[in-house]
Amino acid sequence: MSGIEGKVVAITGASSGIGEATALLLAERGAKVVLGARRSHRIEALAGRIAAAGGEAVPVVTDVKRREDLSRLVATARRRYGQLDVLVGNAGISPISALDDLRVADWEEMVDVNIKGVLYGIAEALPVFRAQGFGHFVHTLSTAGLTIVPTMSVYAGTKNAVRAISEGLRQEAGETLRVTTVSPGFTRTELADSITDPATRSGIQEGMDKIAMPPDAIARAIAFAIEQPAGVDVGEIVVRPTAQS
Ligand code: NDP
Repeated sequence: MSGIEGKVVAITGASSGIGEATALLLAERGAKVVLGARRSHRIEALAGRIAAAGGEAVPVVTDVKRREDLSRLVATARRRYGQLDVLVGNAGISPISALDDLRVADWEEMVDVNIKGVLYGIAEALPVFRAQGFGHFVHTLSTAGLTIVPTMSVYAGTKNAVRAISEGLRQEAGETLRVTTVSPGFTRTELADSITDPATRSGIQEGMDKIAMPPDAIARAIAFAIEQPAGVDVGEIVVRPTAQS
């Protein structure tokens, strides 16, 4: 199947920013979207907006640190819509800081959400994709993984771990599955809220306010990958604001 119309797409981190914009765009183009995030009021409201516009969406409260929540996300897609075409592993946090600060709890949280959260999605969706004979993983990385800068080393490390996992997955996937990574640059979302060091947070927020792109820019890149014919796998997409060095 090519195109977006009728595809069943589960999205983690759908309650704000890139995940929310992706859900709105894909639903507008006829996808059935399964909305995963922890903030139930946000994904319920989003599902309501999509339904009011004539689209199809179901919210599923999902904490990607819990494998059973990913299991429920995938199971809901199949029960409600009969299949799962795409899993967008997008949930992520970036409580960045200098290594000297030893914010070890933040390091652990980034590993749990950004790496293990994606792995749990693979663990739940891969057997389903194999049984169906089709499926597509889309993982949100970051340009922070391409150019490593101070304060971002652990965050960049988590994104590069997912880059390696995604490339391995692509090589193992065979002819019937697709794997895409999308690396956004500065994008106007709530991501800076997860930064626990006040000075780093205000610096990043300032950068975001100045040059960030709207999250719809990333949603369009994800839609481009999904809408390709089944035999075409868009591997890596990098999208930056023109003002980002
Ligand atoms: P937001 O903070 O707006 O969105 C993050 C999403 O992740 C929210 O929906 C949040 O939902 C979800 N999330 C966080 N923790 C968990 C969890 N434990 N379980 C489930 N969902 C979780 O930021 P963005 O939209 O920017 O972030 C989306 C992705 O884009 C992330 O992977 C981020 O690293 C990446 N990215 C963003 C860039 C930017 O400049 N904004 C640049 C490069 C990459 P909830 O809190 O409701 O669970």
